[in-house]
This record gives sequence, C-alpha cells and structure tokens, in this order.
Amino acid sequence: MAERRWSKFCAGCGKRSEELYEGLCKECVLSIFRVEAGKIKLPDLEVRVCKHCGEFFKESGELADLKSIVRDAVSKKLKAAAKGMHAEFRGVDVEIEEFKRWGADAVIKLNVRFRGMELQERRPLRIKFVRRTCGRCSRISGGYYESIVQVRADGRTPSDDELISVETIAYSALGNGPRDFISKVEQKKEGIDLYVGSIEGGRKISKSIVKTLGGKISESKKLYGRKDGREVYRVTFLVRLPKFLRGDVIELDGKVVLVERVERGVTGLDLDTGSRVFLNEEDVRRASLVSNRERAESAVLMSVSGDEIQILDPKSYETVTLKKPPFLRKKAGDDVLVVRAKSGLKVLPA
Ligand SMILES: [Zn+2]
Ligand SMILES: [Zn+2]
Repeated sequence: MAERRWSKFCAGCGKRSEELYEGLCKECVLSIFRVEAGKIKLPDLEVRVCKHCGEFFKESGELADLKSIVRDAVSKKLKAAAKGMHAEFRGVDVEIEEFKRWGADAVIKLNVRFRGMELQERRPLRIKFVRRTCGRCSRISGGYYESIVQVRADGRTPSDDELISVETIAYSALGNGPRDFISKVEQKKEGIDLYVGSIEGGRKISKSIVKTLGGKISESKKLYGRKDGREVYRVTFLVRLPKFLRGDVIELDGKVVLVERVERGVTGLDLDTGSRVFLNEEDVRRASLVSNRERAESAVLMSVSGDEIQILDPKSYETVTLKKPPFLRKKAGDDVLVVRAKSGLKVLPA
C-alpha cells in the first residue's frame, strides 16, 4: 500500500499527481525543460543569396530553397543541444514569418522527446542575407562547359529563323539544375555553337532541336582531364538540320516536289501529278533545291480548258501552256504562284 501511495506523488515538488513522467509531474518536467531549453542560443544566421540570379544557395555553392538551408544550418546545433539535455531529437521545423529588406524573420521549432513527453521549443531566428555568387553563376561567368551543341544544316546554311528557334528551344530545354546552363553562344558563318554546363543538358537541347526542326544528331566525346581518378569527357553534339524545309520545292530525276513534311526523308506533293510522294534519305541526298514558297512568283492564269492551262510568264510575258495540275481550283484571270524548275514553270497549290 505504501508503494502505491509513493507513486502518486511527484519526486520533484512532492505534489500529488495523477500522471507521472519518470517520477515527475507534468509541471516539473516542463519547468526543467524550460530551463534546459532556455540555454539554447540561436545566433543570427547568414544565408547566401546570389547577386546574379537571386537564388539562395548553400555553402557548397549549390542552389537550395531558404527553408532547407536554414533547417540544415540549425539542425546540427539543435541535435547537440537535445543530446546535452538528455532529450531525444525528433526534428526541426522552419517557418519563415516575414521577408525584410535585409533578410527574414523565422521561427524555429525543435521537437524532442523529454522524460517521456513530446515537447516543442519555439525560437525566433533572424536570417541575414549576404549577397554572393552561386556556383552556377560563377561557372557560367567562368565559361564552364561540359558539352557543345553545334547546329549546322545539311548542304546549306541555317536560316535566321531557324537560329532564333534554336536558341529559344535550347534555353527552354534546360531545367534548374546546377549545371543546366549555357555559358556561351557562338554565332558562326555555318551555324551556331552552344556551350552547355553538362553533357546531359547538351543531349536534352539536341533532342529538343531535332524534335522541333527535324534533322539528326551525332555525338563525339573527347577526354579532357581526370577528376577524382575518373576520366572526364567533353561531348560535342552535332545537330544537322535537314537539307530541305517545309515549303521548299525540290527536284529529283525530273520530278518536282513541294516539301510538306521532313522526317527521316521527305513527304511532299508532286507538282505535275498532284500525288503525294515520299523521298527516302538517299533520294533526299540526291535531290536539289529549285525554290520555295516564299520565293515563288505570282503569275496570271490566262485560261483553263480541259486538262490544259495557260499562264502568262511574269518574266518573259510569254504565254505558256501547261498540263493542268489536279489540285488547281483557280479560274482564268486569277493569280497563281509559280516556280521555275528545269522542266519549266510549275504551279503551286494555293
Ligand atoms: Zn512536480
Ligand atoms: Zn546565381
């Protein structure tokens, strides 16, 4: 009986208590905890923010979000503090209360198990921002690269429109990783060279260009050094844009074709028969450019009779008689677009 009566009284304050935590009442546990936790000091914390890109980053230079940087910075200290007060460390929560011009006010919550109770200590923390340069930006400004994407075109020079697209595609293909950047863009007579922070980034850019503009990728790697006993390579991705573009008029073995689609060959419209034709890669290699839709001339359709039409040649002003292409829907007096092939004038579909 005496034993049971003892267990009902707190060993600290001697008060009678329904529930005891390792022999102490709740109030005694809390007051010990308050004294112990009160010894924890959290000095102002400096967090690096990049003066170029505005992102927060760790001591290592790696970009990270503010909360995780703060959590990492205070966790080690708070773990040690928990150990010192014989509490079991259960984790740290970070809440950013308010952003200021100089930094931010935050609340740190230390969660512990102390004498059998789950307790939390809340502490304000002043975060000061220091403006430095992150690893990513310093690599960019140092011209760092691991791959080069060389964009060329097959048998021609890439057009200005293509080059503008290439740059847009390249920047949007990259993610937010520490090496997802282009450190240099070099305009060349024959195309454009992009210097990329990672090999994977260069591959992503190349695939994305080909997906949108067509063409082929070939890659070659070159050993450029050793790092931690490992061979380090730089990779060059050669992106060869297709020889012909949609809207080009091309000629092969007397056949004149308006290019409609470019993908492992060319699909187009035979301008004489009006039928769809497919030219494989070997055909494409042998074919030559006649003109394109943009350079086509406007000519007057003089007459349409049966399967023949007459057109006024806009250069010589002579009347030319042609076989009526099946796709032609125009009437005499209308304007049509024509291109000059070896075999004569060809009418384009409207
Ligand atoms: Zn007590
Ligand atoms: Zn930066």
